[in-house]
Amino acid sequence: MGEDKKSLLQEYKLDQDNELRFEVESKGEKVYLTLKNGMAEIFGTEVVKGKTYEFTSGAKVAVYTWQGCTIEVKGKTDVIYTAKETPMVLYSNCHAALEIARTESEKENKRGPITMTVGPSDVGKSTLTRILLNYAVRMGRRPIYVDLDVGQGCISIPGTVGALVVERPASLDEGFSQEAPLVYNFGHKNVDANTKLYNMIVDQLAVTVKERLEVNKKTRHSGVFINTCGWIKGEGYKSILNSGKAFEVDVILVLDQERLYNELVRDMPNYVKIVFLQKSGGVVERSKHVRSEARDQRIRDYFYGTIKNQLYPHSFDVKWSEIKIFKIGAPPLPDSCLPHGMKPKDHLTKLVSLTPNPGILHHLLAVSFAEKEDDDVILSHVAGFVCVSNLDMDRQTITLLSPQPKPLPNNILVLSEIQFMDSH
Ligand code: ADP
Repeated sequence: MGEDKKSLLQEYKLDQDNELRFEVESKGEKVYLTLKNGMAEIFGTEVVKGKTYEFTSGAKVAVYTWQGCTIEVKGKTDVIYTAKETPMVLYSNCHAALEIARTESEKENKRGPITMTVGPSDVGKSTLTRILLNYAVRMGRRPIYVDLDVGQGCISIPGTVGALVVERPASLDEGFSQEAPLVYNFGHKNVDANTKLYNMIVDQLAVTVKERLEVNKKTRHSGVFINTCGWIKGEGYKSILNSGKAFEVDVILVLDQERLYNELVRDMPNYVKIVFLQKSGGVVERSKHVRSEARDQRIRDYFYGTIKNQLYPHSFDVKWSEIKIFKIGAPPLPDSCLPHGMKPKDHLTKLVSLTPNPGILHHLLAVSFAEKEDDDVILSHVAGFVCVSNLDMDRQTITLLSPQPKPLPNNILVLSEIQFMDSH
C-alpha cells in the first residue's frame, strides 16, 4: 500500500541539463505530468507550465530541461529516474550548425540542408529527427520530414514511406500533424522483403520531395530531415547509400555505430558531411513483440484515431467488378525461362492482377492515385488504406473498413502484406 501511494504522486527537481526519464508499461495505466516551475521540453516540444499531460501504456518519455525545473508526476510508472548525462548539447550543436546553413541558403536562395539520420535499430534515430524538426520549426522554419522506416516510421501506417511539411512542433500524444502527407505504399514491414521495390519507391519519393522544395521558398530554405530504418548491413547499407544519393543529402548523422560512420565516410562523396553522434542512454530497446504491437497500434489509430481524437471508420461492401486489385512482385522464373530482355530481378517489381480470394482477408489495400492500370501503379502515391474485413465468394463482394465513406477515391487497389485484425 505504502509503495503504491508513493508511486501515485511525486515531485522531481531537475538541475539544468538534466533529464527525467520514465516508462509506462502496464496496460490501462495512465501517468500524468505537470511542469510546476522552470522550463522543460519533451523530444524538442516545449512543455507548457501548469498544463497536465497524459501518458498511456507504451510511453517511453524523457523530459529535458536546459534551465532547471520542477515536475510533478502522478500515476504508476514502471521505470523513473533522473539522468545527468545526456547528448542534448551535441544535438543542439547540430541544430545550430543546420540553422547557419539555412540562413546561408536564404541569402543565396539555395536549397537548405538535407539531413539524414542513420544507425541500427533502437538508437534514437526517430527521436533525434523529431528533436531537430521541432527545433527548426520553433525557429519559424518549415522543413520537410521524410520517413523511410517502413517498420516503425511515424508517417501514415507501417509498410509505407512518406513525407510531410512540418508547420508546428510535434504534439506530445500524436506526433507531427498528419495533414495531407505524401505516402507511397511498399507493402512490407521489412526492407529486405523487396529491396529493389524499396529503392524504386524511395527514388520516386525523393523526386517528389525535390519538386516540393522547388515550389515553396520557405520550405526550400528550411531543408529536409530524413529518418531511416535500422537495417544497416549488406543490402540494407546499399539502400542507405541509395537513399542518400536519391535525396542528395548534405549531412548524415550517424548514431552509435562507428563502423557505419567509417563506411559512409569511405563511400559517400566528399561534400557530404558525416557526423558521428552518441546515442542517448535513455533510448529504450524494443523487443520483437513490442515492435509488432506498436505497428498494430499505428494501424488501429489510422482507422479509429487516438483517445483524444477519435475517428469513426466506415464499413461497406464493394462488388469485385467495381475494383481492381493488384499485387507487386511475381514468383521468380528460372533464369533459363526468362523472356528476352528480362533481368533476373525484374519479377520483383512486376504488377500482377489478383482475383479476390480468402488470402486477402484482413490485409490492407492501398488506394492508389494511379489513373491507369500500368506500371505507374507502383510509383503512384496513395490516397489512403482500406482493410479487407470480409469476403463473400457467392455474392462476389468484399467488405472494406475505410476511413472515408463510399465511394472509394479510386478503383485501383494494391495489396499490402500487412494485416490488421479489427477487434472493434
Ligand atoms: P530508433 O528510431 O533508432 O529505432 P527511437 O528514436 O524510436 O529509436 O527510440 C526508441 C525508444 O526510446 C522510443 O520509444 C523513444 O521514445 C525512447 N527514447 C528515446 N530517447 C529517449 C530518452 N532520452 N529517454 C527515454 N526514452 C527515450
